[in-house]
Amino acid sequence: MKVRILGASGGIGVGRYTTSILVDDDFLIDGGDGVGTLTLERISGIRKLFVTHSHLDHVCHIPLLIDGLFEQLSARGEALVVYGQPETLQAIKDHVFNNVIWPDFSQLPSAENPVLAYQEMLPGDVVEFGGRSIEMIEVNHIVPAVAYLVSSGASYFAFSGDTGKTEAFWQRLNQLESLDLLVVETAYPNEMAELAALARHYCPTTLAEDLVQLKHDPDIYITHLKPGVEQEVCIQLEALAPERRIHRLYGGELFEI
Ligand SMILES: [Zn+2]
Ligand SMILES: [Zn+2]
Repeated sequence: MKVRILGASGGIGVGRYTTSILVDDDFLIDGGDGVGTLTLERISGIRKLFVTHSHLDHVCHIPLLIDGLFEQLSARGEALVVYGQPETLQAIKDHVFNNVIWPDFSQLPSAENPVLAYQEMLPGDVVEFGGRSIEMIEVNHIVPAVAYLVSSGASYFAFSGDTGKTEAFWQRLNQLESLDLLVVETAYPNEMAELAALARHYCPTTLAEDLVQLKHDPDIYITHLKPGVEQEVCIQLEALAPERRIHRLYGGELFEI
């Protein structure tokens, strides 16, 4: 399984793109502006998109992605399928594809054969796609939000999405035989712990507290760092969890597991 990081930042600025991950060549997790780094050829291979939650930094490039796929999909009578919790999909329908911000592609080119389809998932649900399993896990954010666990054969990749302290995510990971790659958010440094708690993001102290319960010892990549505090967050995390292999996640990185 190939995991290509398109965007891994909590904001924008030179070299920084917001959350999007391409798995193998055919599905995305989140549609932040990292999607814009893909070549046209790679864009044309995308068939499904799994959304963690409705926040703009995770959905902002879905409208342009579907626009870019329109002719190809409509010629084949296929749809890009967007998966998410019911609340997340409803928010995207109401506030993005509402014929004001962007056309309602779930009715185009026709209601019978649209290029955009929605598929609701609930925490615990698993989608099987081309030999990979994608499982939804509930996390703890200011809007309904989930993590995804992706497996291919005996390889496991877990992505937390946006979250503060949470039980379900770590409990589920502990049920696995192994965990090959963990991408987890830490948005703010400890100096901003109050804001992190309000917005339900991790800061180094809260992530280190939760990491204690993880029985696996994977390489841990930190994502969603706010621009300008990336180094500070990583230094604080390394000090709080010295026994863990913690790395800053960069857009453009490719993992093969
Ligand atoms: Zn968020
Ligand atoms: Zn976010």
